[in-house]
Parts: sequence; C-alpha cells; structure tokens
Amino acid sequence: MSQYDYDLFVIGAGSGGVRASRMASQLGAKVAVAEDKYLGGTCVNVGCVPKKLFVYGSHFSEDFEAARGYGWRLEPAQFDWPTLRDRKTAEIQRLNGVYDRMLDNAGVEIISGRASLVDAHSVCVGDQTYTAKYILVATGGWPRRPHYPGAEHVITSNEAFYLDKFPGSVLVEGAGYIAVEFAGIFHGLGSETELVYRGPQILRNFDDDVREFTQSQIQQKGIKLNLNNEIASIEKQAGEKLLVNFTDGSSKVFDAVLCAIGREPLTQGLGLENTRVECNERGAIIVNDVMQTSEPSVYAIGDVVGRMELTPVALAEGTALANFLFNNQPFKLDYSNIATAVFCQPSIGTVGLTERQARDLYHKVDIYQTEFRHMKNTLSESTERTMMKLVVDQATQRVVGCHMVGPDAGEIIQGLAIALKTGGTKQDFDNTIGIHPTVAEEFVTMRQKVR
Ligand code: FAD
Ligand code: NDP
Repeated sequence: MSQYDYDLFVIGAGSGGVRASRMASQLGAKVAVAEDKYLGGTCVNVGCVPKKLFVYGSHFSEDFEAARGYGWRLEPAQFDWPTLRDRKTAEIQRLNGVYDRMLDNAGVEIISGRASLVDAHSVCVGDQTYTAKYILVATGGWPRRPHYPGAEHVITSNEAFYLDKFPGSVLVEGAGYIAVEFAGIFHGLGSETELVYRGPQILRNFDDDVREFTQSQIQQKGIKLNLNNEIASIEKQAGEKLLVNFTDGSSKVFDAVLCAIGREPLTQGLGLENTRVECNERGAIIVNDVMQTSEPSVYAIGDVVGRMELTPVALAEGTALANFLFNNQPFKLDYSNIATAVFCQPSIGTVGLTERQARDLYHKVDIYQTEFRHMKNTLSESTERTMMKLVVDQATQRVVGCHMVGPDAGEIIQGLAIALKTGGTKQDFDNTIGIHPTVAEEFVTMRQKVR
C-alpha cells in the first residue's frame, strides 16, 4: 500500500496536464487532475482551437472576392458575429466533453476546483487535502495586462472569443503571435483594424525577411500599422467608444482595444511558498532537464515553465515526463527544429534557424529565396504574394532553416520539419521531385542562391 493517495497529482487539465495524467494512468499510476476552469486548458478553450476557427471564418471575405474572378456572382456577403461566436462555443463545449471522457476512460480522477500546494506531497482543493508521491504543476499562463491609465478598458484574447458586440473598429496592441493573428481575424471579419507596436517591425524573433514580407502583405490588405508608438492612456467616451492617446501625442477613437503583449506563467495562489519550488525573474517555474523543480517531488511542464509556449511542446513534455516517472525511460525531448506557424493572413510557417541565427552559428550560409504570385491569385484581383526561403549551412550543405509566408504555410512546413530533423541537405531537397502545380514544390525547385 502506498503512503500517498495518488502516485501523481496534476494541477491543471490543459494540453500538458491532460497528456501527462492520461499517459501516467495508462502506465499503471494512480492519477488525479485538478482543474478550476475548463478541461482542455487554454488551447481548447481560449487558444489554438477557437482562434483557428475564427481564422477560417475570417478568410471567407477574401475567398468571396477571389470567387468573382472565377466567374461566381455573389450577393454582397454579410457576416453575422453571434453565429460564428456561438457555433465556436458549441464546438468548444463538445471538445470539453471529449476531454472529460478521455480522462475518465484512461482512469484519471478529475477534481474540479482551484488547487494549491500545501507541502512537497500535499495539495488542497477547496477543503479537501490530497497526498501524492509526485505533484505536477501544469497551470499554463495568463494574458499580461498593461498598466497605463484606462488599462481596465482593454480586452485580451480571453475576452475576444466572447464579445457581445462585434467592434466596427479595433486597435490591437503588440506584434507577436496573438496580435498579428487577431489583427487578421478582425480585419477579415470586417473591422477597421489598426495594430500599434513599440518597435519598428512586427514579429521579433522571426526571420527578418519573413517579418518584412509579412508586414508589407498585411499592410497591403488594409491593416494599419502604427509602429514605434505605444498607448499612453485610454479614456472611455459616451457610447462605449474608447479614445486612445498614443505616446507620440496623437489620439484616435476605437470601439475596442485588444491587448496582446505576452502571457505570464500562472503561479498566483498556487502555494509555491509552501515548498522549495523556485521561479525565475519572469515568474516561470525553474526546472532541470527532467522537468523537476527545486522541490524533488514537484515537477512542472508547459507554459508555466515557458520554454516554448506551444501546445505540441506541452504535449511532448507531458509524454516524456509520464514515461520518465512511470515507464523507466530516460527523459527524452529535443527542443531543436520545432516547427511553428502564425495564422495571420497570409500565414507564416517556419522551422529551424533564421538567417541571422545561422550566420551567428555557422561560418558561411547560402540563402535561397523566392517570391511570387500564387497561381490561385492570377484569376482573382488579389495582390497577395507568397515568399519562401531556405537557409543552408555552406560547409555541410545541410538545410538549417525553412521559412514561408503564404497560404497553408503551416501545413507545408510541417512536412519540411521532418527533413530538417533528419539532417536533410540542399542536395536532398534538389533530388526530391515536386508535386505540380503546387506552391510547396518551390521548396524543391529553388536553384538560384540569392546570397
Ligand atoms: P494550459 O493549456 O493553459 O492549461 C493550464 C490549465 O491549468 C488551465 O486549464 C487552467 O484553468 C488550469 N489551472 C491553472 N491554475 C490552476 C489551479 N491552481 N488549480 C486548478 N487548475 C488550474 N499554441 C500552438 O501550438 N498553436 C496555436 O495555434 C496556438 N494558439 C494560441 C492562441 C491563443 C489566443 C493563445 C492564448 C495561446 C495559443 N497557443 C497556441 C499556446 C497554447 O495554447 C499553450 O502553449 C498551451 O495551451 C499550453 O499548455 P499548458 O498545459 O502548459 O497550459
Ligand atoms: P508574444 O511574446 O508572441 O508577443 C508579445 C508582443 O507584445 C511582442 O510584440 C512584444 O514586443 C509586445 N510587448 C511585450 N511587452 C510589452 C509591453 N509592456 N508593452 C507593449 N508591448 C509589449 O506574446 P503573445 O501574447 O502574442 O502570445 C503568447 C505566446 O503564445 C506566444 O509567444 C506563442 O508562444 C503562443 N502562441 C502561439 C500561437 C501559434 O502557435 N500560432 C498563437 C498564439 C500564441 P517585443 O517583441 O518588442 O518585446
């Protein structure tokens, strides 16, 4: 008989927590997971899934326009926000049920409520205390809020999914994943959209050519970019309008301001002070190579650790940890060459190094790059263009970075991620016969070095 109620007590039923609990239970561990809001966590409820549904929804305005070039005559299309919002919510509720059944079928006990650590082996939820050999903190993150006067009037991505009224005009603050994705969503659904960013170019950390190209494409579509500027204050006016004052002295009225300036690890009220768990200066839980905190019985994965705030990373950490703790396997996780997509319009797909990173790391690099008009746009009025780029280590000819801005970039880059992971060379790319006519074939037909 174990001296504990559970082998593993997981706090948070999001991407990482669900994966770890399910796998641990299937490996024979006695597992409980506490969740205080929604099964499936951020990704399912206020992240990847509803966001992607909104991206699909917002793309129709362009598709309807493109259809005219192909001979379709359409009535002026009209968009009904409550229909999209409520159908999305119904789908999320269906997924909540799927997660419930999945955990149940795996033998995981679901405990509803907010959990906090009492000591190295105990967790309390409400007035109940549970003990466990291992505790896993998988509490994710929460939108960072700004501090200027009137900041209480902004919404974050959490609220954007449930707006009562669709805004006629919206200011998006920030220029990371969430900001550029939501700028595309609001613009596509018909809002007059402006994005304000403190720097000169959106999407820091992405390849510079990708940034420049994406910036020009989204501007061309009609999203206004207000760069090198910040919000100084916001005043609520009559009729719920928001007067935004910028640091450059200008002002403008919007129906809504969406703040997307990053997310913070969710550790508040978690009782970490009752243990030896330590956090870094960003508030993220510090873990070692096997996701163990400074309190040996407490582990942490996903956004609360913040290595890469992506669902597949939280899932991979959950899988690796369950195998490590309950399957006698070494903790195995390689964070290199993780592909990612930004679902802006046109979308970005990327894997491996940016040109700048490659130049820092290797002696010399070869760059192959192309930019063209997608065949689909030849009969439509769309001026949207597509760009693709390969970054190659000159000495070994290994492809060390693949970048794309264009339709279905994430779908295309996912396949190329395997090539990078397995050490594919430029010659391997050249030896691969393309599928014609596709956009993706450009990745195996680029022969001309641009630098
Ligand atoms: P979460 O999924 O956040 O789960 C944590 C869970 O813990 C939550 O359910 C929370 O309610 C619960 N919890 C917290 N504290 C407690 C407590 N004390 N007691 C009980 N329960 C608690 N990633 C991608 O890969 N692709 C995308 O397209 C993408 N789009 C995104 C769009 C948006 C708008 C956002 C916000 C994020 C997006 N992400 C995307 C990131 C992705 O959602 C996260 O990386 C992922 O959800 C992290 O998983 P997690 O398990 O660490 O945390
Ligand atoms: P990001 O870190 O991607 O971007 C934050 C943005 O806000 C940056 O432009 C940053 O500017 C700016 N910023 C930060 N602090 C301030 C401040 N105090 N004032 C003004 N601007 C500020 O965060 P997001 O919120 O967009 O998303 C969080 C994470 O969620 C992402 O990093 C990503 O990992 C994940 N995600 C993934 C998605 C996907 O896979 N498609 C989609 C959505 C989210 P600067 O660059 O100058 O610091």
